[in-house]
Amino acid sequence: MQAVRPDAGLGANGAVNGDVLELEKPDHYVDASAESAWETALAQLDEVAELMGLAPGVHELLRSPKRALIVSVPFRMDDGSTSVHQGYRVHHNVTRGPAKGGIRYHPSVDLDEVKALAMWMTWKCAVAGIPFGGAKGGIAVDRRKLKKGELERMTRRYASEILPLIGPERDIPAPDMNTDEEIMAWIMDTYSAYQGHSVPGVVTGKPVSIGGSKGRGGATSRGVMYMIFSQLKALGLGIEEVTVAIQGYGKVGGFAAQLLHDAGCQVVAISDVEGALYNANGLDPEAINRHKHEAGTVVGYAGAEAMSNAELLEIDCDVLVPAAVEGVITVKNADAIKARFVCEAANGPVTFEADKILGERGISVVPDVLANAGGVVVSYFEWVQDIQAYFWSAEEVNDRLRGILENAYLEVRDLAGAKGLTMRQAAQWIGVGRVAEAHLTRGLFP
Ligand code: GLU
Repeated sequence: MQAVRPDAGLGANGAVNGDVLELEKPDHYVDASAESAWETALAQLDEVAELMGLAPGVHELLRSPKRALIVSVPFRMDDGSTSVHQGYRVHHNVTRGPAKGGIRYHPSVDLDEVKALAMWMTWKCAVAGIPFGGAKGGIAVDRRKLKKGELERMTRRYASEILPLIGPERDIPAPDMNTDEEIMAWIMDTYSAYQGHSVPGVVTGKPVSIGGSKGRGGATSRGVMYMIFSQLKALGLGIEEVTVAIQGYGKVGGFAAQLLHDAGCQVVAISDVEGALYNANGLDPEAINRHKHEAGTVVGYAGAEAMSNAELLEIDCDVLVPAAVEGVITVKNADAIKARFVCEAANGPVTFEADKILGERGISVVPDVLANAGGVVVSYFEWVQDIQAYFWSAEEVNDRLRGILENAYLEVRDLAGAKGLTMRQAAQWIGVGRVAEAHLTRGLFP
């Protein structure tokens, strides 16, 4: 029945294109007094710079984005009025290749958040060993309030405003929170109209009909599953003997729940912005999807106990997968987390200070730059296929994705073991180290 079909045009939170749109509301999850994403990103960089003895000049260079564009995005509403929203596109670093990263539509988008997300993209691409730098973009807008035509006009205007920054050799946007393949198609079309010919390689996460890659839609979730399996193997645990809790039942978390369930894990808790579901004997994602399709939320599903998002984070389980927004595990709840390990499907869900508490308590964290890199890895495959105009099978995509991520995991794990680091420190070390090496190899202009 209605499984989450990531290749079928689902919105960022699992909504079907043109259907009811939901929004991840950070206030349901986030403690506003927690460290911001930007503070967390900077603290992570500063820590690893110290650990690895990074040259001060390179450290300083990496603390700020290479360039940041703030744009005003005016567009016509269906009633004839004009709406204006602030948009952003940030390139954190482009030393290893074109800037790469998603575009999110969310009321809380601001320059600092986009800077943090762009920095994480730099490390993510470097850890995965794909030849991109880091970027991110977004518009501070409540997507739920826009009709489809308004969404399209806003997207096309935003694309034209960031036009000087994007292009297949400069910066390749992709979907992120509340953006999807239809939005990528509009950006590709707008860019192509300016160029006078089709340029599929300007965005990834496009529909397959216009140069998208098979497997891109579910790639982030698939990568999360591979990274959970790698961590289970390292801990000597079997796939079928563990329980998993997933916070955020959207594009990434929803499909991850399905994949993990199908692989034999017991998914005992899931949540969306309205609330959480728990069943110690395991949940059936297909049945939840059917309920969600009718009710518009997972809440109210009969086969589970209701709980809050905050409670879900603290349940007794083996694997905790935060798959919603930044800053959900903070100094306020890190002491109460009971999972054996956390796998960060979202970007920045654990703040810097909370990460330390988890570490002291022996709870390992598979960090976001590794755990959710599946999306950008298949984006890389999509870009390669577009440039070569030669397309791969879904099996080829999934096999190569698995190979890249498992290899990256082992590199991180080995370095962590060799130097006595957490997996996050090791991943940052590898990511920052590769970017620093590229800087030193290229030299400083002029
Ligand atoms: N938005 C995704 C991320 O945070 C994917 C980025 C991409 O594919 O460029 O990793």
